[in-house]
Amino acid sequence: MSETFTQLMSPAVFPWVALLVGLAVGSFLNVVIYRLPKMMEHDWHAQCAELRGESPPQTEPLGLALPRSRCPGCGHQITALENIPVLSWVWLRGRCSACKTTISLRYPIIELTAGLSAAYCARHFGPGFAAAGAMVFIWTILAASMIDFDTQLLPDSMTLPLLWLGLLVNLGGTFVDLRTAVIGAAAGYLCLWSVYWLFKLATGKEGMGFGDFKLLAAIGAWLGWALLPVVILLSSLVGSIIGIGLIVLARRGREVPIPFGPYLGAAGIIALFWGRQISDLIWSRFA
Ligand SMILES: [Zn+2]
Repeated sequence: MSETFTQLMSPAVFPWVALLVGLAVGSFLNVVIYRLPKMMEHDWHAQCAELRGESPPQTEPLGLALPRSRCPGCGHQITALENIPVLSWVWLRGRCSACKTTISLRYPIIELTAGLSAAYCARHFGPGFAAAGAMVFIWTILAASMIDFDTQLLPDSMTLPLLWLGLLVNLGGTFVDLRTAVIGAAAGYLCLWSVYWLFKLATGKEGMGFGDFKLLAAIGAWLGWALLPVVILLSSLVGSIIGIGLIVLARRGREVPIPFGPYLGAAGIIALFWGRQISDLIWSRFA
């Protein structure tokens, strides 16, 4: 048993193990992205009903594990064979086996992203605690960003555990020392919080959501305060390029809110791997 484990953890094999685990996790992330917003909505309806003194609305119970996944078109229950990450989608040519409704390309893309990023973490950090932590960091950000993209909401149930986990991971100095991590978490929250209030006092509008502060706090807890300027710079850069692109290409009005979470998340992931190099590059220009 321990010999098998040692083999799986060898530098040559570990990225492949990570790829398979990542593909399976990606399949679960698809469920989270689809169901968590619906579960939150159920909760809100139940709470509103309670406030009005009514009995909560009767809906079928919805969790992350149950009920089993069904085709939204015809209700066909997805079998185990139809649930293999990426392969099933290719085999079914992106269609439900029963009613031929198109299955979004997004599902295999999320699975591939989760799998390939895990394999990259395994290669970049080598077998060990840092690689495992980096995978959890990326998977959580991937799911939270997609939910933000769909619903303009970053769930507390993802950003806050990510923050606490970042501090725990850095107790032993995995990515940065604990002091840098704690200051990173606080500074991440407070800098966007200040921007929010300055913008609101100046224009009367809300430029971003509280979820964004919590996500940047989480990124600060994992990567430390020193990388926050890089994260903010990268996210604004990517955000403005894509934002301007959307306005020009899709003739999308400037008033349509663009979620900031996916850009913050993407910047956090880039900074996880190359933050220090980018930071050095920027500072060497000024020094
Ligand atoms: Zn169907």
